[in-house]
Amino acid sequence: MENIELINKLNYSGELDFEEFKHLLSTYDQKDFEYAKELAAKITKKIFGNKIYIRGLIEISSYCKNDCYYCGLRRSNLKAVRYRLNKDEILLSCKEGYKLGFRTFVLQGGEDLYYQDELMVDIIKSIRQLYPDCAITLSLGEKSKETYKKYYDAGANRYLLRHETYNEDHYYMLHPHSMSFKKRIECLHNLKEIGFQTGCGFMVGSYHQTIDHLVNDLLFIKELKPEMVGVGPYLVHHDTPFKDLKNGKLNQTLFILSIIRIMTKDVLLPATTALATLDSNGRIEGIKHGCNVVMPNLSPQEVREKYLLYDNKAIIGQEASEGLKELIETLRYNGYEVVYQRGDYCKFDYKG
Ligand code: SAM
Ligand code: SF4
Repeated sequence: MENIELINKLNYSGELDFEEFKHLLSTYDQKDFEYAKELAAKITKKIFGNKIYIRGLIEISSYCKNDCYYCGLRRSNLKAVRYRLNKDEILLSCKEGYKLGFRTFVLQGGEDLYYQDELMVDIIKSIRQLYPDCAITLSLGEKSKETYKKYYDAGANRYLLRHETYNEDHYYMLHPHSMSFKKRIECLHNLKEIGFQTGCGFMVGSYHQTIDHLVNDLLFIKELKPEMVGVGPYLVHHDTPFKDLKNGKLNQTLFILSIIRIMTKDVLLPATTALATLDSNGRIEGIKHGCNVVMPNLSPQEVREKYLLYDNKAIIGQEASEGLKELIETLRYNGYEVVYQRGDYCKFDYKG
């Protein structure tokens, strides 16, 4: 089958088998790339109109007990500058964000044992109480099902936990054996069972990633049915074991984003900071390829450059909450409108 026929099949049936995906991802050309982009944009427009949801990203801690080989926050990186926000600082960021119009707060961080269940529950409850009209998204890594349930009962609504790769051997090329592929996947199933709007995802261009791995990632997304998908390019951090690798590729990331939109239809799909870091047009290109969420940085200014997953992180201008006006303008110029709503996942019965 021609690639355009495969893209059409994915659009109508919502699925391709392993070999079909493999053919598409390994042989697509510029024409297929443009075709997928247009189709993804059409689907996004039909479901979300020209609306782009904004989330305020609060990076609560740069401490991490894990040692993922690709990440600047890994515990073995002794040069990483560590900080953590206390409850008051987190609430202050929410207050600033609320004033700016954000109605979703994303609390993200390394796996920092400082935030024991009692403290995290207290923080979540306080945000819920102060901002009842806001959604609370967490991205704090792997926890027990009991802990996830406590977070949920305290008022958290969404949880982002990228699966990173759906291939066990590849998982251990990216992570030490002290981490567990099975546990990662189990966490995602637990989050879904509890009722979280759940996000999985992966980096494009990670170490030793093959087309087969990417196909398995797409098939896993199909199977898990997440409400959100986080996909961005892998970017080098100079103080990690992967310091000599190359960044993920812009066009491959954009193509995969459009394929995810065509496959899933209504998923919430952010144009990530990594994409904006890789290329100055990355964010807007992501949106043109089917993304419908942006997450400006709402962390206190002084910690933003300490939360470094990769080199040259984009933290100023439109990446920052202070640059929201500029971001709104850029999006408007390109025909999109930022909306100040929670922007929860809504099932959409898409008919081509
Ligand atoms: N610690 C939590 C976790 O790992 O799920 C949440 C924060 S972690 C920094 C969020 C995501 O950042 C990870 O899932 C990973 O995909 C991404 N990330 C880490 N290092 C990266 C790098 N060098 N390039 C691009 N993305 C990276
Ligand atoms: Fe820690 Fe997350 Fe970075 Fe892994 S990706 S080292 S878990 S912050």
